[in-house]
Amino acid sequence: MDPLEHASVPSLVYLALSPEPSLVFLTALVVGAVFPDIDVLAGEHRSYLHSLLLFLPALLVAVLLGGYPLAFALGWLSHLFLDFFTGVIPPVYPLSKRGWGLSIAVTGPMDFGIEVKLIERYPEKRHDYRLEIGGSLALALLTLLTAIIRLH
Ligand SMILES: [Zn+2]
Repeated sequence: MDPLEHASVPSLVYLALSPEPSLVFLTALVVGAVFPDIDVLAGEHRSYLHSLLLFLPALLVAVLLGGYPLAFALGWLSHLFLDFFTGVIPPVYPLSKRGWGLSIAVTGPMDFGIEVKLIERYPEKRHDYRLEIGGSLALALLTLLTAIIRLH
């Protein structure tokens, strides 16, 4: 999942559910939603910032502080949630690099069904940093339009 999708999905949920959305809260949410992928700079994508060992204490502090720290943590949570469905996240990294994720596929058309599989494997190393953002650019533009309408 690319940064535009990571930013757009929680933004749309926030803009849809908040009775009075705020630009600062939305910004904190988006920053929290995209920042875990700076793991790439440490050489391993989906490592420290995708680990529950780091996230859960940060979430606890954010819940105690509330406000924008909580928005940031909710963005981070959305990142882990989305990555769990598009690959694996290593819940106890660096104690173990083993990751977990959920694969959901629709089969058919003759024998229609939904196939749900729990994935257990090591996160894939990213060898190039080229991002394909064509499809998610439309989602990001929709999110921007929604934000303009809701934040006026
Ligand atoms: Zn990620």
